[in-house]
Amino acid sequence: PDNDGAGTGREGLSTGLSNFWMPFTDNRGFKAEPRLLASAEGMYYRTPEGRQVLDGTAGLWCVNAGHGRREIVEAIGRQAATLDFGPTFQLGHPQAFELAEALAALMPAGLDRIFFTNSGSESADTALKMALAYHRANGESGRTRLIGRERGYHGTNMGGTSVGGIGGNRRSFGAQVWGVDHLAATLRPEAAFTRGQPDSNEDMAGELERLVALHGPETIAAVIVEPVACSTGVLVPPRGYLERLREITARHGILLIFDEVITAFGRLGAPTAAEYFGIAPDILTMAKGLTNAAVPMGAVAARRFVYDRIVDAAPPGIEFFHGYTYSGHPLAAAAGLATLSVYRQDELFARAAGLSSYWQQAVHRLQGARHVVDIRNLGLIAGIELAPRPDAPGKRAFEIFHRCFDDGLLIRVTGDIIALSPPLIVSEAQIDEIVDRIGVMLKVVD
Ligand code: PLP
Repeated sequence: PDNDGAGTGREGLSTGLSNFWMPFTDNRGFKAEPRLLASAEGMYYRTPEGRQVLDGTAGLWCVNAGHGRREIVEAIGRQAATLDFGPTFQLGHPQAFELAEALAALMPAGLDRIFFTNSGSESADTALKMALAYHRANGESGRTRLIGRERGYHGTNMGGTSVGGIGGNRRSFGAQVWGVDHLAATLRPEAAFTRGQPDSNEDMAGELERLVALHGPETIAAVIVEPVACSTGVLVPPRGYLERLREITARHGILLIFDEVITAFGRLGAPTAAEYFGIAPDILTMAKGLTNAAVPMGAVAARRFVYDRIVDAAPPGIEFFHGYTYSGHPLAAAAGLATLSVYRQDELFARAAGLSSYWQQAVHRLQGARHVVDIRNLGLIAGIELAPRPDAPGKRAFEIFHRCFDDGLLIRVTGDIIALSPPLIVSEAQIDEIVDRIGVMLKVVD
């Protein structure tokens, strides 16, 4: 029997809480003191008791056009009534092809072969497998090593966990995929409180040369990085860093994968971070904002040469032995098409670009506030790093997360870092509200 007991925060719940093993959650803490969401519209969630909660995180970095967009909801409904499901193994339906064409048009030139997945994790693993298959088809089957970065996050599947660099996500599972190495994270203490991209005299990406020399270029398939490492608490790469990664990978025949699960679809004020930074990777992963999170969907864009090599080298028949039952699911494809049209019509990427300097000014107002040891930002993203409590790392930020929620603001915390990423429809007044509310909590919380 569920003996969680009654308590506050359970309004609207007719069941116990025991059966749902919640992801990335302190299950015991949550179930003792649940915080529930009942509905959402625009910039706000609503709790079952009817309290409004301002969404400072676009859900989980994903509801870029704001909640409950009618155009998207209606497109999903129409699609469900017309074709609820159709396999994309040896069959197809128009929405998947239409969305692939629309996405190809949004990607940097040449990244126009689109593979559909259902999540960011699946996109990361798909991208890694594409890289392995590419080299094999290219006659370089020795290229199997994958290089990620410390503090990187590429989801929770086996490949993504292996190249990922957040210790807690790896340690519980023992040794992962063989043949992985990691670059160092790009955070430098001397860059604290930098607005936007820090300058650096240090050649941090040059470390890749060391790994290439150590392992041999003929063993390395791909380097995967988030252009801006978000989930770990917003690490903005120093100027020149991504350019240097691109240059070194190209010189050694290593594929460069940008994991843009968060950064694609306007988060930096451009369709992709690749476009924002002016650097074209060989493979680019997406998810989250692709459907405004209304239906799960991910995608991987590959350069044509990657696709052509894998396809051309294969004997007649299936060329890439990979895919998901729900790759290009009709409801997700319909949601994706409607989402891209909302982004276009409302010019949301340009809106985010226009707001980014206001955002920067606003979040940096917290410099000097109690506990704050660093603030980092780019586009409509910010990380506010707090000093940990000496005896309890993570507890201070977690308490602020709880108190903010109870006070009507949703933020995200990772360790002692507050990560912010509001929907791109956020107003200047709402930006001020987000920052001011956090400012108040920083005073209240020890
Ligand atoms: N890759 C990156 C860069 C992410 O930020 C995330 C999620 O935050 C993922 C992959 C995993 O996505 P999902 O949770 O949809 O599997």
